[in-house]
Amino acid sequence: MGGTFDPIHYGHLIAAEEARSRFKLDEVVFIPCGQPAHKKPYAVTPAEDRYAMVVLAIASNPWFTVSRLEVDRPGPSYAIDTIRQLKEQLGPEAEVFFITGADAILEIATWHDNGSLLRECQFIAAPRPGSDLRRLEEALGRERAALVQTLHLPCVEISSTDIRARVAAGDSIRYLTPEPVESYIVKRHLYRASRGPEHETASSDAD
Ligand code: NAP
Repeated sequence: MGGTFDPIHYGHLIAAEEARSRFKLDEVVFIPCGQPAHKKPYAVTPAEDRYAMVVLAIASNPWFTVSRLEVDRPGPSYAIDTIRQLKEQLGPEAEVFFITGADAILEIATWHDNGSLLRECQFIAAPRPGSDLRRLEEALGRERAALVQTLHLPCVEISSTDIRARVAAGDSIRYLTPEPVESYIVKRHLYRASRGPEHETASSDAD
């Protein structure tokens, strides 16, 4: 389960649990991005804070674990490097799925070495209300788009962007993310101030 998780919220947890149950997964490994390949470093909260919030959020689920693979790896967090490292750790018998947001997967054609990535693992897309998955065929072509499976989720319109905006505005985030995450955000004074041009995306990180 890959994501920036800035912060993690119930939308992520619901998607992870749904994927676990539908694809009969033995384990869901949350892998917070160290340095998101497509975002400016100032646009994201330090990796250690995002990692800590994931640890707090998944504590009660025995099938959920968290990995420091990307937090500890220097340089941009390319998914292809992560999948290869993970497969090496798990051994040749393991079947690996990459679960992430459908809107992130729609951009996969711009990801580093995306051709290999689509061959190395299966993709599971977690849509949010309004995600247009018909665009996947346009982005990837029919054959490669068919390699991406889609989750059917209850309509939960929670986003990390909205949570950050609420905190900055002093509005409540109760019931959007687990309580320990909410307390961590308060304790560490996260999301109170602007971090510059947020989520500024590079047009491509493929090279
Ligand atoms: P993003 O662009 O911040 O997010 C795009 C959309 O997907 C947002 O609506 C986001 O909602 C949602 N989303 C992200 N992760 C999700 C998850 N695990 N479950 C459900 N929805 C999710 O995407 P990102 O979080 O930075 O990146 C997603 C994954 O793609 C990461 O693992 C990242 O490393 C990978 N990625 C790799 C490359 C590369 O290899 N070059 C490039 C880009 C992304 P929220 O904001 O609410 O999470």
